[in-house]
Amino acid sequence: MIPYEKARNLVRERARLLGKEKVRLIEALGCVAAEEVRSRIAVPPFRNSAVDGYAVRSEDTFSDGQPVRLKLLAEQPAGEYWRKKLGPGQAVKVMTGAPVPAGADAVVPVEEAQEEGGHVILKRQFRPGENVREAGEDVVKGAVIIEKGTGLKPPHLGLLAACGFNKVVVYRRPRVIVLITGNELCQPGEKLKPGKIYDSNSTILQALLKTSGAELLSLKWVKDDLKAMAGALKSAANRADIIITSGGVSVGDYDLVKEAAVKIGAREIFWKVAQKPAKPLAFYELKIGRKSTWIFGLPGNPGAVMISFEEYVRPFIKKCCGRKDFWPREVEAVLTAPYKKKRGRLNFVRVKLSQDGHAWQAAPLGQQESGIIFSLTETDGLALVPAEADLLPERTKVKVHLSEW
Ligand code: AMP
Ligand code: MG
Repeated sequence: MIPYEKARNLVRERARLLGKEKVRLIEALGCVAAEEVRSRIAVPPFRNSAVDGYAVRSEDTFSDGQPVRLKLLAEQPAGEYWRKKLGPGQAVKVMTGAPVPAGADAVVPVEEAQEEGGHVILKRQFRPGENVREAGEDVVKGAVIIEKGTGLKPPHLGLLAACGFNKVVVYRRPRVIVLITGNELCQPGEKLKPGKIYDSNSTILQALLKTSGAELLSLKWVKDDLKAMAGALKSAANRADIIITSGGVSVGDYDLVKEAAVKIGAREIFWKVAQKPAKPLAFYELKIGRKSTWIFGLPGNPGAVMISFEEYVRPFIKKCCGRKDFWPREVEAVLTAPYKKKRGRLNFVRVKLSQDGHAWQAAPLGQQESGIIFSLTETDGLALVPAEADLLPERTKVKVHLSEW
């Protein structure tokens, strides 16, 4: 059994970039830009109106308290372009986003004007530039819009789109294959037979992977059988960067993942971590030629699956994707109740968080056993209770890893 800190370091050290790829914007969500991007155009590309109204020359709107009448020359909806120049005493009706004609330097909002017999009547003076959006006021042509290493979120993708890009170069997302073991499993939607349970890990892992940045290639069910498992691991290793197995890594007679991994030549990096839950967590490297595939052997209990995914697999995937902030986000909180445990293993305690002024409070949830799913639905984070601790009194400060699910 190795300590948690050592296990997470062994995982971190092995995560590496997997090269670059050019992907469509929407596929780049959550990926990291592998190159700097400069805009080839200004945004907005032309001077345009910020409101629905009338483009005017601001100097024409001056009056000594008297309403001003300007001649209405044309109407210009967004997407059209009126080519003439506005002269003294003239106005052009413009909609939001429509180009402001040459000669005009302000837009009078419809709410502040009256249209009457081919004229517009204004009641106040307008400043130069009022309600006008200048070309390039958002992005100057040639400006860096994305720095190399940026984690791409919806606003970044929007910015790229506004500058006309439909693709972006990102670090390649790791490809994942999930192998689900357990002869007791029955699929949700089917009739539950005696001795069987519904398979929840398949759904849990697919859901967790969706937001992880990895690409799920396939999910397969494998019988608790050495040959079947070895075959499944081997064929998965040909295509995947990461294989995640569920169940079968403990010490039971049908826990065959480790034996199967060794049989096909994988090297154990660790098996068993001094933590609760997910003690039997296993991590292997399988080298075929120059290609490495990483095998995360997750224990079968759904609580252990979720926690080991968050603590090890998600950070590994994020780091492979080029993310610098790959560890779970951490806050310090005070326990609202005492927590008792045996010495020897770090405990991940499911907690509900609340704020008391500036301080976080962590309330341990009732059921903490690794087979329990229900309390995970209420979990805001995992409090880390150190291996050497046995009793933490109420108000003890603990680190809490915020759940990303
Ligand atoms: P194992 O590590 O294979 O011995 O599994 C540990 C526990 O997790 C057992 O109670 C299994 O029935 C349960 N389990 C294993 N796989 C799944 C799964 N896919 N969905 C729900 N429970 C599972
Ligand atoms: Mg099993």
